Amino acid sequence: MTEADRDLLLIPGPTPVTPTFAEAMARPMIDHRGPEFAAILRACVAGLRWAFQTRNEVFILTGSGTSAMEAAIVNTLSPGDRVLAVSAGSFGDRFGHIAQRFGAAVEILGFPWGEAIDLDAVHARLRSQPYRAVLTTFNETSTGVMHDLATLAQGHDALVLVDAISGALVADLPMDAWGIDVCVASSQKAFSIPPGLSFIALSERAAVSGTTAKMPRFALDLAPARDFAAKGQTPFTPAIPQFYALQASLDELQVIGLESLFRRHAARAAAVRDGVRALHLDLFARSHYSPAVTAVRAPQSIPVKRLLAHLRERYALTLAGGQDHLADAIFRIGHLGLTPDGDYAEALARLGRGLSDLGWDCDPSAGATAVDAALSAPAP
Ligand SMILES: *Cc1c(COP(=O)(O)O)cnc(C)c1O
Repeated sequence: MTEADRDLLLIPGPTPVTPTFAEAMARPMIDHRGPEFAAILRACVAGLRWAFQTRNEVFILTGSGTSAMEAAIVNTLSPGDRVLAVSAGSFGDRFGHIAQRFGAAVEILGFPWGEAIDLDAVHARLRSQPYRAVLTTFNETSTGVMHDLATLAQGHDALVLVDAISGALVADLPMDAWGIDVCVASSQKAFSIPPGLSFIALSERAAVSGTTAKMPRFALDLAPARDFAAKGQTPFTPAIPQFYALQASLDELQVIGLESLFRRHAARAAAVRDGVRALHLDLFARSHYSPAVTAVRAPQSIPVKRLLAHLRERYALTLAGGQDHLADAIFRIGHLGLTPDGDYAEALARLGRGLSDLGWDCDPSAGATAVDAALSAPAP
């Protein structure tokens, strides 16, 4: 296999899994009610506290990220609760829709896709009447925008629920310091392990709200999860291989350190943006560029699906399309997790060749050159 045939999967999750984590998953099954699993669970919870920058309780659910979003809502709210869902993309909308489905009185405060949420407007709305909770997204994966949530929790009493699924470990989100009540994340994003586990951290206030929350729940009920956690167990059979991988991943991530992870993601994102511009393409986001994923406006002359299929078939490069009404307008390059830096220049090289095959006017190698230059420049 030559370098050019090597599959490159650069979507905003699932991320490629490093061989060490894949090997960890191949270990034999164990009893999920035995001491070995208890030790793994405790180590993973401790590692996740580090990842969320919290002293709060953290639960690990078997299920994709959306399970943790649903758990966040059903374990803190009751039908009829007034909830403000702040959204500027499809994941922000999803959080609001889950709350709606469980009977909350949801008001969506929407902002244009491609822009960041306007915290002044959010605060004004939160002051206008009492809300039980405010929901939002940290990194909006559908548009390539990262929202600034540093002051979101200030000046009101609403519970603050944050979908940090694609933003955790990518940029600073100190849950306790910023007063965030519930924060969720998922295994297949920057943890660089396969899909199947999701994570939820709850402030004391959020845990207390669970005792009166009336939304229906069974598999995602955190009350039994809390009782079982005390014994080093989960209420139901956990995805044991993913736990093996999670423990290995958290060990490695903690050696790297949060600051270094944040710097690495920011540097790569900037390099990918340089590469995209060097191919004469425009970014979809107007500001607050995401360190996890870059959304690119597709050339008008090349249908997105055709471009993505060509890159996959001819160059073994998998990028993501757009979601919802952006399906034919953008494509997205994921750059979260432990993917080696060198893969981004290689990806931009393949993207340049693919675009040029389809008639786009660019120097096919300019993107890779720009990425290389950005990533080899001394850190600021
Ligand atoms: C990936 C993602 C999700 C969850 O997706 P699942 O497919 O349920 O794992 C939710 N929110 C954001 C911001 C995401 O990036």
